[in-house]
Amino acid sequence: MTDCLFCRIVAGEIPADVVHETDRTLAFRDVNPQAPTHVLVIPKQHHATAGLLVGADPQLLADVVAAAHAVAIQEGLASEDGTEPGYRLVANTGPQAGQTVHHLHLHVLGGRDLHWPPG
Ligand code: 5GP
Ligand code: ZN
Repeated sequence: MTDCLFCRIVAGEIPADVVHETDRTLAFRDVNPQAPTHVLVIPKQHHATAGLLVGADPQLLADVVAAAHAVAIQEGLASEDGTEPGYRLVANTGPQAGQTVHHLHLHVLGGRDLHWPPG
């Protein structure tokens, strides 16, 4: 999808600060960070939402979640077998939730106290 911002990042047409990559996933820092760590984790293949991806390729959704956890460990937000200090995964889905890029992305947020409910 050439009109998709994140497909263009995958294609190398738009630069990104990549922090983690596997054969099927890519993770890069959000250009407008909302926390000391704010990384976006995406499947390299275009899927609009997690709900659509889990129907099409459930292993790829699992790979995205695993990549997000690997990023959290890399950023010092969790250990292999623990959750300290912790992090938040967010998948804004649809307009009312504020999804602005229609290529599934998990926000990995951490490095400060995260309030709940988020508002
Ligand atoms: P959404 O609102 O769809 O859940 O999240 C989209 C995210 O993409 C936003 O947090 C926004 O800051 C980020 N973003 C938008 N354009 C770019 C870009 O060109 N590069 C990077 N790295 N992040 C972007
Ligand atoms: Zn895309």
